[in-house]
Amino acid sequence: MNDVTDTHDGVEPVRDVAIVGSGVAGLSAAIYVARADLEPLVLEGPEPGGQLTLTTEVENYLGFPEGVGGMELIRRGKEQAERFGAEFVHGTVEAADLDGRPFELELANGDTLYTRALIVATGASARWVGAENEDELMGYGVSTCATCDGAFHRGDDVLVIGGGDSAMEEALFLAKFADSVTVVHRRDELRASEIMAGRAREHEQIYFRWNAELLEIHGSREDGVTGATLVSHPDGRPTEKLGTDAGEDVARERVDVGGIFYGVGHVPNTDFLRETPVDLDDDGHLPTETGMTTRTNVPGVFGAGDVMDPRYRQAVTAAGTGSMAALDAEAWLDAEAERAGGDRADGERADGDRGNDERADGEAPEALAD
Ligand code: NAP
Repeated sequence: MNDVTDTHDGVEPVRDVAIVGSGVAGLSAAIYVARADLEPLVLEGPEPGGQLTLTTEVENYLGFPEGVGGMELIRRGKEQAERFGAEFVHGTVEAADLDGRPFELELANGDTLYTRALIVATGASARWVGAENEDELMGYGVSTCATCDGAFHRGDDVLVIGGGDSAMEEALFLAKFADSVTVVHRRDELRASEIMAGRAREHEQIYFRWNAELLEIHGSREDGVTGATLVSHPDGRPTEKLGTDAGEDVARERVDVGGIFYGVGHVPNTDFLRETPVDLDDDGHLPTETGMTTRTNVPGVFGAGDVMDPRYRQAVTAAGTGSMAALDAEAWLDAEAERAGGDRADGERADGDRGNDERADGEAPEALAD
């Protein structure tokens, strides 16, 4: 049975719900949790607002026929969550103890937070290619964010690595500044959606290098990127063939470019869960229970957004799973409170007596419905 108390060791406050991550999934969860009067704490993490803040225009989010800026959508979402009582703090969770109750989160600044339910909405961060010198030159002409760094490349020839929607979006954005943009893709078929691929293909400054990969980046921190070595193979994925029999057919070419942008997908931010009992899949995603739930294998821990979704990864699906995680967490807290022999109306609150057990939408929580 859980120890459902207001403080941990009689000292530290215990939250009902902590949400790790403030992208679209975390914000959506925060709105729902806050409207349920559970006063969530939202930890903003190292990339506040998540991936949408690095996007220009979002054209496929419901309700914005003209499109909406990624930043704008996030700003409005945060305002909406705050309006209902969500509290935002900057903080990166470095480690978590999810064996006992309440859960314990250790932040990079040394603080420790306690929470009964945990919503993991940490999203995913840009993947790196693994080319020689990328560590040295990331931020010095190599970038994972065209919207952040594109304007530094006026008049340059630049490369975009990748064949998905992100790569197309980066290429289209960069074409506003650069003289030429060459998309380097490891196969001869794009992964991107038809509409994005079509726009890139039709753009007169955007070129494609098929069956090619980035092997090495040339330049220095003083001079920035000056060039790159590309490898190609008629069957694609040339770097895999290096060192094998097929390696003989791998061609190398040095190109002069002033910038290199990665658009090769993302890796889920789940490092802080590695030493916990929460299951992760081979790619580091947080698997959730099959069916329409956001529950993980650890009761009280829920996943939302790109961190649990290797497939759809859309802003609108992240918002959807965020709301699901909030509802799942609320139901779980109610069930826990019942199991603990009381209910939340008995004053078992994260921050003392809030004195109002009605949800903001006027509907009583399940455990209080009778
Ligand atoms: P993605 O769809 O996973 O595409 C990643 C691309 O990078 C693939 O083409 C992949 O090649 C390539 N790649 C992966 N690792 C590589 C490596 N080490 N070296 C070279 N190439 C590598 O990721 P994404 O483009 O970030 O898109 C993620 C999701 O967000 C998708 O659902 C997408 O639709 C969505 N999104 C939508 C928009 C929009 O609608 N405006 C914009 C951005 C993203 P392979 O194809 O060979 O695997």
